[in-house]
Amino acid sequence: MIIYKFGGVSVKDATAIKNICNIIGVVKRPLTVVISAIGTTTNLLEELVDAYFSGSDKVWEFYNQLEKNHTLVIDDLFDEIPATVATDVNGLFIELKTKISKPSSDKFNFEYDQVIGFGELLSTTIISAYLNQIGQKNQWVDIRTCLDSDDNYVDANIDWESSKEKVNTKFVDKSTALYITQGFIASDDKGNTTSLGREGSDYTAAILAHLLNADKMIIWKDVLGILNADPDYFDTTTKLDLIPYHEAIELSYYGARVIHPKTIKPLQAKQIPLWVKSFIDPSQKGTLITKGEQPQPLLPNYIVKKKQVMVSLKPLNFSFIGEKDLVFIFSLVTKFRIKLNFTQNTAVSFAFCANSSARNIEDLIAELGKKYEVDVSNDLELITVRHYNPMTIEEIQLKHHILVEQKNTNTAIYLTVAN
Ligand code: ASP
Ligand code: MG
Repeated sequence: MIIYKFGGVSVKDATAIKNICNIIGVVKRPLTVVISAIGTTTNLLEELVDAYFSGSDKVWEFYNQLEKNHTLVIDDLFDEIPATVATDVNGLFIELKTKISKPSSDKFNFEYDQVIGFGELLSTTIISAYLNQIGQKNQWVDIRTCLDSDDNYVDANIDWESSKEKVNTKFVDKSTALYITQGFIASDDKGNTTSLGREGSDYTAAILAHLLNADKMIIWKDVLGILNADPDYFDTTTKLDLIPYHEAIELSYYGARVIHPKTIKPLQAKQIPLWVKSFIDPSQKGTLITKGEQPQPLLPNYIVKKKQVMVSLKPLNFSFIGEKDLVFIFSLVTKFRIKLNFTQNTAVSFAFCANSSARNIEDLIAELGKKYEVDVSNDLELITVRHYNPMTIEEIQLKHHILVEQKNTNTAIYLTVAN
């Protein structure tokens, strides 16, 4: 079995969908294709959930936009819209409308997960039907029928044992089949939809690869592979040919936007090779993530995280920051589900950085303010360099106003003021 994963950009409109269907068309079976929501649908659904949860009428504006976007893709994609697509897509629209017509419960994360998966359900329904129409016979799988998770909504944990059996009974044909399924979602033991965290489709593909003992997995992207720096911020970048699993984990941990952080482990456990390739130019070789010692070529790797907020805490009674403080701070951070990108502690202070757009960050700061003197700095950037050398460091020091530097053998992290 081979596992493909296509993200939102690769299916952003009818032209993009036709392109990925060409890629799917020429590859040997059995093949399982995991697909994200079309374009930025998940962002739109997040706005819809916010409106729904707060009881705002704007929910219908977002709903109409969602329906319009998908109708447009369908109209562009099909010369003649097959009756089944019309019925299936309408069924999903009705299901969502029914949901948002009823008042929301007071459990945000639960409500989020009941709505957020419609993006993937719609995209896979449309693409599966299109593939069938062009002669690529396939089976659409509702991943929620075989991928089990706990009920930690918004960031659910997979139940590997029960999923293993179910997944292997669903994706049973190991010879000629083409399966089309959703990334990002699963279901709990009550049958409610759960989600695996934003950008979680990579992770879904890796879970399926692991459970199905796949020969390989390919993540299709709009870049040639994994680059040593983000081309949005750096003029010259080099594609990496090979990245060892452990290095890929480090890169995603420090915030490289290439792969969802949880993706590598399930693959590494079974030594399944992961390719990152370009859907724009599939003939190019891409980047291979596999076992090994060092990345090839071995270059400084830059990871930039923009729009960071730094929160510095000092005890109100001028005492030290002790273990109990750290336990307290981290329990609040966990409670508000804030991902810390950087931490630093001294005898009398503790500081951390998070994305300034993080949901709940304001609430966390307010809560911490009850016990600590809080200092908040905005408009910061984190620059992480894996495999740095004296030259790369000199360059960063020259170009940036550095607030904090943290260095170990392989990694240097700079907290800087945005230029
Ligand atoms: N559609 C989801 C998101 O945008 C999952 C994914 O794309 O991986 O976060
Ligand atoms: Mg996406």
